[in-house]
Amino acid sequence: MWAVDLIARKRDGGELTPEELGWLVSGYLSGHVMEGQMAALLMAGVLRGFTTAEAHALTNVMVGSGSRLDLSGLPAPTIDKHSTGGVGDGTTLLVAPLLAAAGATVVKLSGRGLGHSGGTLDKLESIPGFRVHLDSGGLLRIARDVGCVVAAQTDQLVPADRALYALRDVTGTVASAALIASSVMSKKLAVGAGAIVLDVKAGEGAFMPTLDEARALARLCVGIGVSAGRRCVAIVSAMDTPLGACIGNALEVAECVWLLQAPPEGRLAMVALELAAHGLSLATAGGLDAARDQLAELWSRGAALERLARMIAAQGGDPAVCEQPAARLPAAPVRRDVLARGSGVVAREPARAIGELAAALGAGRARKDDRVDPAVGIELRVQVGDAVESGQPLATVHARTDAGADGAAARLATLIELGDRADPAPTVLEVVRR
Ligand code: URA
Repeated sequence: MWAVDLIARKRDGGELTPEELGWLVSGYLSGHVMEGQMAALLMAGVLRGFTTAEAHALTNVMVGSGSRLDLSGLPAPTIDKHSTGGVGDGTTLLVAPLLAAAGATVVKLSGRGLGHSGGTLDKLESIPGFRVHLDSGGLLRIARDVGCVVAAQTDQLVPADRALYALRDVTGTVASAALIASSVMSKKLAVGAGAIVLDVKAGEGAFMPTLDEARALARLCVGIGVSAGRRCVAIVSAMDTPLGACIGNALEVAECVWLLQAPPEGRLAMVALELAAHGLSLATAGGLDAARDQLAELWSRGAALERLARMIAAQGGDPAVCEQPAARLPAAPVRRDVLARGSGVVAREPARAIGELAAALGAGRARKDDRVDPAVGIELRVQVGDAVESGQPLATVHARTDAGADGAAARLATLIELGDRADPAPTVLEVVRR
């Protein structure tokens, strides 16, 4: 086979066979296919589109590029969860311990934040002592002892995704349904949970801006999961506005702890509860309403918080974060309130721009090897639809320096738009099953 012929076929709108895709990906990993050639292929696929058959084949090729985690020795049901990425989205910190409290086992491999979107590993690493790098033995031991573990992808699992994702990231080739689906689902299939629940984001802060595109991605992911013999469901949820009130690593951990200290309330809690309920009812073949009620009851009586504390302790972190998050998590030295300059109703809090602003403060990274500042970020004090009075705090900036706080507060004041009225849109937009 010749890479250049396969690239040209894709460029001209043709389809590649599973063997050809396998040859290209393994050639890229071994150095036989050049980086420029792989980038050209990815761009050709983004512009021309990959077929569903190509998306399935690419997923299988990527799973086959590494080893698999065998969860068969863990207490059933095993449930995995994945989000396509968003702003203020700490759902994993809520869903994993909640499902563990309900008797399921969750082994979740998470990623880091990039650009405007946050990453679970960065959030967890803001907890003093927390270790995200575990080998397979460590992952399985903690999963068995605690019921949930959230860690970084190991070198052995889906190395092709690691290499391709890094290349996509710097070549403008992330936003392709087939590439996102194969990236997400290869990780889910390599980990081996019996049930998979996905949160596919739609909106200006997501890879898929429209509901139609997000629905198509959700269908593709679910189709790949079901073809591989897994139970799989996706919710499509809105990412036009940050999901939680906090954007920034330690701030988001603190928000999740506060949420778990009380009965579930608010958009972030509701999406987490919905994801967990879909995952549990899928895994146990039980009713969705019963799963939701059971999980809400476990949440309200503190069982999920207790699991989170156990998971944090098992991964080397300070479990007292679950009692006093503000005292135990790193805090930024400078805080600056953003005050309303008039009265009105909060009409817009744009997710992407707010995520980028938090990243610029140091909460995120522009390049993969940048270090994040765990303490900085943005705390939204009002949400879309809230009525506000002139002078009322709209948000608080948590910054490392006075200059950083001033700049971010000035920008935030222009981003939070007030109007005469607002109709807050629903957060869970659709459920996609097969
Ligand atoms: N999340 C992933 O794991 N992969 C993608 O391609 C996009 C989001």
